[in-house]
Amino acid sequence: MLIVGGGTIGLSAAYHAARRGLKVTLIDRFPVPPTGGPNDFGSSRGLERMFRILYSQQERVRLVETAYAMWHELEQQVGGAPILAEQDLLFFGNPDISTFEGNIHDIAASMDQLGIPYDSLEDPAAIAKRYPIFRPEALRTPDGVPYVGLVQNNGATINVQRAFQVVRGLADRTGRVSTAVGLVTSIACELSGDWVVTTDDGARYHASYLVLCPGVWLGGLLAQFGLAPASKAGAAWSIWQMSLAYFPRAAGSSVHWPIWYEFGNTKTDADRLFYGFPDVGFTPDTTGRLKISADYTYSTFTDPAAATRVPDPRLIGDIQAHLRELLQPGVLDIDHPTLEQACLYSMSPDGDMVLGRIPVAPEVEQFWPNAALFCMASGRGFKYTPLFGRVLVDLATTGKTAYQADLSDFSTTRAGIFQRLSG
Ligand SMILES: Cc1cc2nc3c(=O)[nH]c(=O)nc-3n(C[C@H](O)[C@H](O)[C@H](O)COP(=O)(O)OP(=O)(O)OC[C@H]3O[C@@H](n4cnc5c(N)ncnc54)[C@H](O)[C@@H]3O)c2cc1C
Repeated sequence: MLIVGGGTIGLSAAYHAARRGLKVTLIDRFPVPPTGGPNDFGSSRGLERMFRILYSQQERVRLVETAYAMWHELEQQVGGAPILAEQDLLFFGNPDISTFEGNIHDIAASMDQLGIPYDSLEDPAAIAKRYPIFRPEALRTPDGVPYVGLVQNNGATINVQRAFQVVRGLADRTGRVSTAVGLVTSIACELSGDWVVTTDDGARYHASYLVLCPGVWLGGLLAQFGLAPASKAGAAWSIWQMSLAYFPRAAGSSVHWPIWYEFGNTKTDADRLFYGFPDVGFTPDTTGRLKISADYTYSTFTDPAAATRVPDPRLIGDIQAHLRELLQPGVLDIDHPTLEQACLYSMSPDGDMVLGRIPVAPEVEQFWPNAALFCMASGRGFKYTPLFGRVLVDLATTGKTAYQADLSDFSTTRAGIFQRLSG
């Protein structure tokens, strides 16, 4: 199997393919860093990712529950430090707004229907009582709608570096995965059905199966199939450059922080979203510091070469201004963020991921043989890593997967995702 893209999803696919006895070549344009973690250019960059079950779509809840069990299997196989740092996760905010992360009422309804336990915090006082980091008077929208909250007690912060270390280690242990560094410039399907991939240094790779996990660089690879990401005004694929920072706890503060995600409370735009992590201390540099980010950006584009990967001071300023309003004094040193970073989302036109076989034309249910694709992760793919690696291998090798029924939202043939390559 040839896998193009060695981010978290491609690496997971490599592991699953090798476990099934396939010989795998994992090709990435960037070398694996000495740490064995993600490279600094793709969407897997960084230290922490949120793991949550709180989804309004029941199919998605089933998928994340499967992924959760698979993360634990991976941990058990190697022992040592866990991948998931489990902790309470708070979704809170305006119960009436619908964002691309869902709507709080719908999420509660979905948990109720599936019989998944959660704690309900019915008003600002209840939220501030459980989490005294917040100012109760800030827990409402600018026009006065009081916040509500949902707590998932088994949320988790995914340790990104550890996840890579574990999956890479297990893949290496099979003895069947080799890695190659090169920019894939051409992909061809031979009459035999075999795939031939060529890189910019002239190297050619042959295999029976092909999996593509290209992150923000999807354009060049889709072009090989006569496809392009949808670019219709108002419904176009785009890259979002996101900014984040780590904030030290205020001196002497040992107050409890949940993993948290806030649904809109700025004066300028009700859809603005902020989220953060406790000080999970995955590295010495971040010990005692909390990662906090805005889930929106002022910087969108379609050419990955336009990415500066420089954090946007305006966004860091937004985060600071918001935290000053939201938090009790004395819990966080808001004035001294460190380790500011930028990382890229690959946003689909409808905000959902794309996972499936590769269609021969946009919105057509005919597919290239023995090939599968994951792209447009839209800022939410990491938690699914072990499951999506398996699904991609299922689809490339057999054309189907046992998880198909729950994956239809992510279809590669849904309307408005791909268009024909013009010119
Ligand atoms: C700031 C931020 C916060 C996020 N938060 C969360 C979260 O809390 N929870 C969650 O579940 N998810 C989250 N995500 C999303 C998650 O991190 C991504 O969905 C995931 O990392 C995508 O992995 P990937 O393997 O698809 O892509 P990438 O990691 O981008 O890997 C793609 C790889 O393909 C390679 N490549 C591309 N084209 C070629 C080519 N032509 N030739 C050779 N190599 C090529 C690239 O070099 C790259 O290494 C977040 C993302 C960001 C940026």
